[in-house]
Amino acid sequence: MNITGIEIRVLEYPLEKPFVSTWQPMPTVNHRVHIVFIHTDEGITGIGSGGVAAHWDIARLFLLGQDPFAIEQHVQNMRSFAFFIGRPWPLEVALWDIIGKATGQPIYKLLGGGQERLRAYASTGELRSPEQRVEDAQRLRDEGFRALKLRFHRPNPRDDLRVLEAVRKAVGDSMDIMVDANYGWVIAPDRAPQRWDLRTAISMARAMEELGVYWLEEPLYCYDYDGLAELRRQVNLRIAGAELNQGLHEFKILLEKGCFDVYQPDITFAGGFAQCRQIAAMVQAHGKTITPHTWTNGIGLAANLHFAASLGLCPYLEFPYDPPNWTPEARDFMLAEPFRADEEGYVKVPQGPGLGIELDEDKLKRYEAADQSRII
Ligand SMILES: [Mg+2]
Repeated sequence: MNITGIEIRVLEYPLEKPFVSTWQPMPTVNHRVHIVFIHTDEGITGIGSGGVAAHWDIARLFLLGQDPFAIEQHVQNMRSFAFFIGRPWPLEVALWDIIGKATGQPIYKLLGGGQERLRAYASTGELRSPEQRVEDAQRLRDEGFRALKLRFHRPNPRDDLRVLEAVRKAVGDSMDIMVDANYGWVIAPDRAPQRWDLRTAISMARAMEELGVYWLEEPLYCYDYDGLAELRRQVNLRIAGAELNQGLHEFKILLEKGCFDVYQPDITFAGGFAQCRQIAAMVQAHGKTITPHTWTNGIGLAANLHFAASLGLCPYLEFPYDPPNWTPEARDFMLAEPFRADEEGYVKVPQGPGLGIELDEDKLKRYEAADQSRII
């Protein structure tokens, strides 16, 4: 089988209300998605996507005329051309989608089998009042979720703690609560220039210990290896992170320094399926836990769902969900069927070949930014 063409389609889905996340300075008004389609001479097309504005055109030099099954060769090339274009990993996802379709197997089974469904945590994205978050948490529990993740990013971290205290009081021990501070990167003009330093992170983590928080995520900059390791030594709380880290070598440093208990590589950010499986092996060898970041779109969620399912033991799957501003319909608008959690709080792994997802052709046409889509 040979690769005969690569196509990039750019979509923009207008949200009903702006989504004001903690990790970017501007609200999201349109959900913008790049999808790559890799075509072959056997009529099989693979798809991939991730959350990055992508300049994947260079890929034609390395992929056209090549066998999509030659994953190791393609990964070596992508690691090199990532120097020019950022993160090429949705291309690798599309190759695995082809391999799955050619062999008639879902990707997670090609990578090791594992779980047919994963326990999800509802991953919120906005800062809301204690009263609103209590209401949200009760609704999520009624829907079946047994865990949720709150965001911390206020100018005064005591105000973040007040939300956590209110939610814990409301749900008692019936839900696990994760906290994500989103201080892994610095985006100017960040709405919270008063980032946590190590002392603040330690005192916040200690307060969270008292409230039984399941993990604290991204308390410090993603390359502050020594600060993260020191924080982890000082507290009895799981520290999570690495959604912004990439490649085997960054994860090697994180593991050797002892930065995290829970590692969160995203297939579409950190290195595709092949490298993330290797990262997972390193994490496992250090006795730590892995559960991927998934916050991009329905295709990226599908890729990370297959990865998580292939691991055999993944405590929770991130399920980006913060209605009414971030819903399955908006997140997965390009899919015929949005991913949903069932009444027990689990997400099913698609059992069809490859990623096992079907695109909604009508929506692809309706929301296409046609002036930017192209064949490369
Ligand atoms: Mg996060």
